[in-house]
Amino acid sequence: MSTLFISDIHLCSDRPDMTAALVRFLERDAPGADTLYVLGDLFEFWIGDDDPNPLHHAIADAFAALRQRGVPIYFIHGNRDFLLGRQFAKRSGMTLLADPSVIDLYGERVLLSHGDLLCTLDLGYQKLRRITQLKWLRWLFLRLPLTHRLAIACKMRGQSQMENVQKSQTIMDVTPAAVDALLRQHGCRMLIHGHTHRPAIHDFTLDGQAARRIVLGDWFEQGSVLVCRPGEQRLEQRSLSSLNPAGAHESDNL
Ligand code: MN
Repeated sequence: MSTLFISDIHLCSDRPDMTAALVRFLERDAPGADTLYVLGDLFEFWIGDDDPNPLHHAIADAFAALRQRGVPIYFIHGNRDFLLGRQFAKRSGMTLLADPSVIDLYGERVLLSHGDLLCTLDLGYQKLRRITQLKWLRWLFLRLPLTHRLAIACKMRGQSQMENVQKSQTIMDVTPAAVDALLRQHGCRMLIHGHTHRPAIHDFTLDGQAARRIVLGDWFEQGSVLVCRPGEQRLEQRSLSSLNPAGAHESDNL
């Protein structure tokens, strides 16, 4: 009996080792789970479900196989793959959830989010987020030719990487007040999120009661998986090479 959470894999064609590690995780580790939650930024970027990138097909097949083995899969969008649509979700056997969403985790109300909406000190990013959330703009973007969409996505990625170098660690982390407010709003004492790539379990007090914030890690150097059982949450690191014996040689150099 376990529920698994992953996020921030940032899959892209340049990192076949991470793709292989995730596929291996889906084939070997996830089939025993009650449910798998993917909390955003599964892909480094997403320009539409009609992108013929073979990586997307391989990943959709791996998720669909897990779903066929009886494991429900839920997905919350990240700030990189916020355009991932119903078509891809259906093909992958994933159910899309809103950000944030409350789930029942073995009798406990738990709040799930990608986490970017909690980085409220990063005003530049929050402004961009409001723009990318505009429905009409998304509609327009998805109707551009694929080559144009790819060019725009690459430009935005480059710009964000350049800007992030100049931002302080505090600005790029979640704001404690925003975490408290969101937990209160949804009547929860536990939050699970990704986005900041700072895997940790933070215990704190909220209105005199014990509260917990669990941050999932990325998959750049190792796999990061949160394994939850009734009354227990364990954040596990798994080396990419043990997840992926076939790619062990390559991963040794990471
Ligand atoms: Mn993110």
